[in-house]
Amino acid sequence: MLDCLRAGHLNPASQHGSGRQARRVLESARDQLGTLLGASLAAPRRDHVIMTSGGTEANNLAVRGLVSEPGEVLVSPIEHPSALAAVEKLLERGFTRKWLSVTSGGHIDISTAREQISTETKLVCVMLANNEVGTLQDVATLARICSERGVPIHCDAVQVVGKGSVHFGDLGVSSLSFSAHKFHGPRGVGGLLVRQGISLRALLVGGSQQLGMRPGTESIASVVGMARALELAVEQQTEREARVRALRDRLESRLRAETNCVVVGEEPRLSHTTNVAFPGIDRQALVMALDMAGVECSTGSACTSGSSEPSHVLLAMGCPTPVVEGSIRLSLSAFTTAAEVDLATHRILAVVNDLRSRESR
Ligand code: PLP
Repeated sequence: MLDCLRAGHLNPASQHGSGRQARRVLESARDQLGTLLGASLAAPRRDHVIMTSGGTEANNLAVRGLVSEPGEVLVSPIEHPSALAAVEKLLERGFTRKWLSVTSGGHIDISTAREQISTETKLVCVMLANNEVGTLQDVATLARICSERGVPIHCDAVQVVGKGSVHFGDLGVSSLSFSAHKFHGPRGVGGLLVRQGISLRALLVGGSQQLGMRPGTESIASVVGMARALELAVEQQTEREARVRALRDRLESRLRAETNCVVVGEEPRLSHTTNVAFPGIDRQALVMALDMAGVECSTGSACTSGSSEPSHVLLAMGCPTPVVEGSIRLSLSAFTTAAEVDLATHRILAVVNDLRSRESR
């Protein structure tokens, strides 16, 4: 990234020598990203790797760009707010929305989905893993059903890319979104993989960059940084995943042993997150008290956690009110140490005990 920034005002769309050099660097990083994610980059089947400002833009581009004629959109009610809001926008264009059903464990019910996907369906939108409870969805099976019925399917893989294995070709989805800041890459950059032959309507109008699907000068340093971060994440994935899972499990088992907490979301789920509810404790009070104690966590998704609305994910899973009201979300990074987890556990237990004793006073 520093090399790119030091090289100065390079514009990969310029025709002069330094512009062409910038384009080569950009294209090489783009190909690296596509290859690491299992896209097909060789002719005749060339999937597209579109650079965006992050996961939100990638989800908007896919949901709003994959459809043309109004019809029905099938979406899971536990999607990230960026996908849900993009589907909401389609309603203004005459589309109707149908919800996929979710089990109490946080998984999409595949057998019901099989019946719901019909010739009326214009798009299916399902995330690979949920950002609040971590549950992994069987997207490959849904994609197979969609492909048999000629329906495009978009998959928000923001929580999995860089943490678990993701192979675009094997998943069989029409498009897949990812975001660099989820795997220790730079903020403000992400991307969308689009299967060859799928037509995508641009959200923006402007120049012809990225085949006109996402006009605007690309940030070479950001894309190069994202590609390098993903390369490291993929190289170290097995080791990182096992280590982080062991730490997350240790955190959960200590909290379970010493409180009446409930871990929300059933396996299979991501290794680096946990959603823990402390029934009887108010989640907002808990987040604030933990912040004061030096433990940073959230309720709901970070994008909605400024609001005091209960989590749409936990509500869709049918969690009991005390669980919805008392749930927080903790995430570990690839660099979190055992000592940090133990310290956080100690502080969480102290804060929970303190809040409980205040309530009983
Ligand atoms: N999708 C999921 C599942 C996420 O967790 C997030 C971010 O938290 C996004 C989309 C949005 O990505 P970004 O923050 O890059 O816009």
